[in-house]
Amino acid sequence: MEKIKAVQIVKPGELRIIEMDKPQIDEVNNVLVKIRASGICGSDVGIYKGSNAAATYPRVIGHEIVGEVVETGYGASKVKAGDRVIIDQVTSCGHCYACRHGRPNVCQNLKVRGVHIDGGYREYMAVPDRDCYLIPEGLSYQDAVLIEPTTIAVQACSRAQLTAEDELLILGCGALGSRMLSIAKLHGCKIIVADVVDEKLAEAKANGADYTINLLKEDIEEKCREYTTDAYGPTVSIDCACTKDSLGTLIRVTGNAGRVITMGFSVTPTEVTNFGITSKELDIRGSRLQNRKFQEVIDLIKEGKVDLNGKSSHTFPFTEAQAAFDFNDTHDPSIRKIVLMMP
Ligand code: MN
Ligand code: ZN
Repeated sequence: MEKIKAVQIVKPGELRIIEMDKPQIDEVNNVLVKIRASGICGSDVGIYKGSNAAATYPRVIGHEIVGEVVETGYGASKVKAGDRVIIDQVTSCGHCYACRHGRPNVCQNLKVRGVHIDGGYREYMAVPDRDCYLIPEGLSYQDAVLIEPTTIAVQACSRAQLTAEDELLILGCGALGSRMLSIAKLHGCKIIVADVVDEKLAEAKANGADYTINLLKEDIEEKCREYTTDAYGPTVSIDCACTKDSLGTLIRVTGNAGRVITMGFSVTPTEVTNFGITSKELDIRGSRLQNRKFQEVIDLIKEGKVDLNGKSSHTFPFTEAQAAFDFNDTHDPSIRKIVLMMP
């Protein structure tokens, strides 16, 4: 059997380059994709460090997966050899309550590529053709990995039922927060971005944030009152920071009848109060992964409403994944998205 190289997290804290059998197409996984690039996401870091409660080990991680179709069979009709594709990371059972209600991203039997089953830090993957989406022409492989975090942003704005009337607070402006900003802008609402890094706030401002808050220098509650109509507070707040305290903070600052969207995977307990939620009748909603949002994002790119060109910041050969994760740990302010490249 032909072998391929892969990046495996053996157990928390231990990353290894392994050899594994080259995947073969079959009736279900009827498309063979030569992986060309895979992004490093906060959740990949969480799996590496052991703080992602959903992950199982050992695991070939990576869920921001783009490549080139090299072989199809068994009724594959959506793509053909030579197509450049991004792969949906969600696999679902199709028959549980969530699936029957059109929410396969929270399927009871959910298996996420790179989390519960092996993902994209390897040279080849065999996947069902329905999970492949054509990358727009002119978008490089390395920037195309950003389609995935953009789908995550589309999902969160959809969960928030964001409209032009809303006044939105985005907490955290890293890779996820900046994607959130670009999607939220399309809804035409007022947007406040909060972070601890001035460079990221300046970039957010340049990318259309109406107001920014530096959490280290300013009081978020006071600033949220100042920046919203009638000191109402944000009507929607989305947690793109996912720190221990962020949920409590958002419950405090969000206005009456507002929506608070959580996206974190931390299992560290945090204190919130009944009063904080009940008195304002807040909706606290989780937003996990994405619910078939790839085509929507690809269409937004084609319409010129989303531009991912140049949005990745660093690349590493995938066999140097350890160096890439170590570099990510430096939290260098220039890091936007680190991408592992396959030969
Ligand atoms: Mn991701
Ligand atoms: Zn299901």
